[in-house]
Amino acid sequence: MIDAKAELGEGPCWDAERGRLLWVDIEGFNLHVFDPETGRNDTYHIGQYVSAVVPYQGDEVLVTLAEGFHRLNLANGELIKLVDPEQKKPRNRFNDGKCDPAGRFWAGTMSLDGVQGEGALYCLEPDGRLRMMLDGVSTSNGLGWSLDAATMYYIDTPTRRVDQFDYNLDKGNLAHRRPVIRLTEEMGYPDGMTMDAEGMLWIAEWGGGRVGRWNPSTGQLMSVIELPADQVTSCCFGGAELDELYITTARSGLSAERLEETPLAGALFRVKPGVKGLLSTPYGYAPGTDLQK
Ligand code: CA
Repeated sequence: MIDAKAELGEGPCWDAERGRLLWVDIEGFNLHVFDPETGRNDTYHIGQYVSAVVPYQGDEVLVTLAEGFHRLNLANGELIKLVDPEQKKPRNRFNDGKCDPAGRFWAGTMSLDGVQGEGALYCLEPDGRLRMMLDGVSTSNGLGWSLDAATMYYIDTPTRRVDQFDYNLDKGNLAHRRPVIRLTEEMGYPDGMTMDAEGMLWIAEWGGGRVGRWNPSTGQLMSVIELPADQVTSCCFGGAELDELYITTARSGLSAERLEETPLAGALFRVKPGVKGLLSTPYGYAPGTDLQK
């Protein structure tokens, strides 16, 4: 556990090639790199909202900032803008993002003012083309793909649902949206999620203080991991065996009193849930490449 006191810890992504976890603090404007071998957590201050990070090439990662998709060189700090699809929406920012199994970088947006339906979901192709895939989104969040990549799962948080689409991995296209998991009023709001090696979804509950393991075929909750923090934001498998679940949390939205009661809010947690996960795909990944070196 890293007691990082993140305002809004988010976006954990395992960089298998380098054996490290990339994650962000969206409202703290920081990108973090945790090395489990040394226990070191390096912090890169970005100076603006940084909402998602994925491995790329050499010293570079891809990030989504308030102003779109960028390449960031972690060795020298060089930041190169790739594309900003929401230049005309200064009160929106990017939120959760992840690569599909073919290395396309999917990321969505949300209103900073809580305006519903102002966001969208985008897909950045490995060749740099950007497509808007969904609009009318409120708080674009968790993404995941089934083991055969024929299904994409998606969370727009205020809906309290996970929806699934038929997914065409060759083209990166979505079809036939329908709800598959519903969180009840007694639970938190669904935020980030990740797929495990058995095809089950691990869903972080904002306000629920836990991560739930769900069966997307039946919509049933199978088990939960309770955390000493209310705002659980996202999770991702990592470690050499992919048997460790990294979980991010936030301090954002908690009263001073509640922060005193839950001093670990904003920490990065690591648990062994007894099941393995899938590799996070780097941006531009060419299918057939060995990810684990
Ligand atoms: Ca999120």
